[in-house]
Amino acid sequence: MNTPYSMLINGRLVAGKRLEPVINPSDESVVAQSPLADAAQVDAAVEGAATAFKRWRKTTQPERRAVLLAISKVIADNSDELSTLLVKEQGRPLPLAQFEMQLAMQFLAWYAEQSVDVEVQIDEPARRVEIHHTPLGVVAGIVPWNAPIHLAIAKIAPALMTGNTIVIKPAPTTPLTTLRLGELIADVVPAGVVNIVTGGSDVGARLTTHPQIAKVSFTGSTATGKLIMASAADTLKRITLELGGNDAAIVLPDADPAAIAPMLFGMSFFNSGQVCAVIKRLYVHADLYDAVCEQMAAMANGAVLGDGLDASSQFGPVQNRAQYEKVLGYIDGARRDGRIIAGGQALRRPGYFVPLTVVRDIADGTALVDEEPFGPVLPIIKYRDIDELIERVNRSPYGLGASVWSRDVAAASRVASQIDSGTVWVNQHCALDPAVPFPTMKNSGIGCESGRSGLLEYTALKVVNINKA
Ligand code: NAD
Repeated sequence: MNTPYSMLINGRLVAGKRLEPVINPSDESVVAQSPLADAAQVDAAVEGAATAFKRWRKTTQPERRAVLLAISKVIADNSDELSTLLVKEQGRPLPLAQFEMQLAMQFLAWYAEQSVDVEVQIDEPARRVEIHHTPLGVVAGIVPWNAPIHLAIAKIAPALMTGNTIVIKPAPTTPLTTLRLGELIADVVPAGVVNIVTGGSDVGARLTTHPQIAKVSFTGSTATGKLIMASAADTLKRITLELGGNDAAIVLPDADPAAIAPMLFGMSFFNSGQVCAVIKRLYVHADLYDAVCEQMAAMANGAVLGDGLDASSQFGPVQNRAQYEKVLGYIDGARRDGRIIAGGQALRRPGYFVPLTVVRDIADGTALVDEEPFGPVLPIIKYRDIDELIERVNRSPYGLGASVWSRDVAAASRVASQIDSGTVWVNQHCALDPAVPFPTMKNSGIGCESGRSGLLEYTALKVVNINKA
């Protein structure tokens, strides 16, 4: 199949003047051709969104709600097609692709019930003070390749609910499912309210410097986030940056290795480790270290990798060649810096398959522990003293997520309160919920998505101060 997909620009489906093949990471075949927006098409999308904003900002909560629910219905009605396409371009197993559609619908459902009503702060005989949360204008939503639909919806839903319009740019290696969604929603979303343009960093940069873009909501790497922050400065755009993470999971000495190992494993290798907030360094108390290492290695060795459309596959490939080579580089380093007890060799087959790799006897100060590999490779580090460990964990430049594991929830919560990261989970990890803010600290970003706080990031605070005397 080599069908070119269309972009959604101001309510019209528009072909690219240039095309780029999208590669299936499971076998390196071409899935389809993706359009590459040129500068005029990016400008047309922004212009369309700016025009639509004039009408959309005046819509009522029920009108916005209806559009979000209509998008959700489109996803539900076309879930099989969208999930299958997502597997082909992203690589994840089909049940995980179906889960991504469910997550997107869950986010749409939650945001559809939100509103940003005027709050009356003071209402006295002589004066009245109102707090308004006004829309910003046109939002640019820039999305990475690990969860294209979920992350696009996590921007579209709050942007629309608060009265903004949006231009979405998916990652160049996973544009197809988002483009297809655009084709499917073209008739249910008013023209210009949601636009989808595809391409690489040039398209992204045109959006982040565009004078008519009021806000950039970016999810991606810390390096790109810094570029975006700099490029948004000139026009003083609002920014939300959801960037890289190097989440620590801390296993306290009283934890039950047999009970927690399957959860630790699941949350280290979910989507083959290609999630911002999965476990990326696992710290285990010396008393449990051997037991946890053994169990993690056994589960990794037993994992079935394969094409995501093959029902027997539990894990897919790394999403793209550049990332595949990066992950293999981290594994090479781990051969020197630690002891590989599962995986460790790229599979000899087409596609970007890296076996689930577990590394023990490795320490802080090595690339695998200190950096974000963003792939199926997990270092397990031994510790003895929890206070010293908290300091070590907090030395990381990242601050996205972390978790603490113990039979004693109160003890785990005390440790959690001392970790410098946007979220600390206790006896779970990466438990995402549209109602719960997902904030960032340090080099993991600026601001937050989800929850009421995330919603308000799409608004400007405005005070109407009335003299009634
Ligand atoms: P990336 O930064 O390379 O690319 C992300 C997006 O930015 C893509 O659409 C890309 O085309 C675009 N882009 C690249 N250069 C740009 C520029 N100069 N201006 C504007 N846009 C530009 O990230 P990636 O490799 O696609 O994704 C992996 C990273 O994303 C990891 O670091 C991961 O932790 C992070 N991530 C973070 C979260 C979160 O919520 N914090 C969620 C998922 C992924």
